[in-house]
Amino acid sequence: MRRKLVAGNWKMHGSLAENEALLSGLLAGMGNVKAGVAVCVPFPYLSQVQAKLNGSAIAWGAQNMSQQAKGAFTGEVSASMLKDFGCAYVIVGHSERRAIYGESDALVAEKFAAAQAAGLTPILCVGETLEEREGGITESVVARQMDAVINKCGVAALAKAVVAYEPVWAIGTGKTASPEQAQAVHAFIRAKVRAQDAGVAEGLIIQYGGSMKAANAVELLGQPDIDGGLIGGAALVAEDFLAICRAA
Ligand code: PEP
Repeated sequence: MRRKLVAGNWKMHGSLAENEALLSGLLAGMGNVKAGVAVCVPFPYLSQVQAKLNGSAIAWGAQNMSQQAKGAFTGEVSASMLKDFGCAYVIVGHSERRAIYGESDALVAEKFAAAQAAGLTPILCVGETLEEREGGITESVVARQMDAVINKCGVAALAKAVVAYEPVWAIGTGKTASPEQAQAVHAFIRAKVRAQDAGVAEGLIIQYGGSMKAANAVELLGQPDIDGGLIGGAALVAEDFLAICRAA
């Protein structure tokens, strides 16, 4: 049985004072949470989060990283730097990075490989746009995004990774995929991995992301192939995030 994992993606939100209050609220409410929990925070706050969460049941990570190990890459942050701050996870291939910063499937695969090489667990985001869904190509888009990583790193690399299915049209829009829509894509992803390695497929955590909140979490997380959530907006309010963690 896979243990569910709920991860918060704070995006470019927060301040030292706001984070302090949010993290204190989360720590105080973790008592009856059985799922794995993590927060993925902006780089400048990793030190704060490390100091606050060290020794707690909440893991932490970043939202992006460089594919390069070190060198003259002004403004970039390497995987080993994230390890220095105790990160367990790093999100790679979030749709905002793909769409706004032009990250290609190939670049995402390089970041995935660099994360694993440094001992981080990548949370690989995949998902289709509204146009792609309406065009009936959801599965081929998700397959292409998965294949970029599988072809570069091998299917076994997914044993030490998390996949987040995030339909782009549901992120930050308040529109959630129905449990049936989400389950169908999650099952597709697992079947695709199973075709290459059944053991990896059974162990693979596939999170759903896209306007998940307390009100829809129970139904989404009740689907057989939905193993947790990647949470944006609702991760910024302790009680909202904790409600999803408890649902998981
Ligand atoms: C996300 O940023 O990954 C996300 C799922 O955002 P939201 O929950 O706000 O839709």
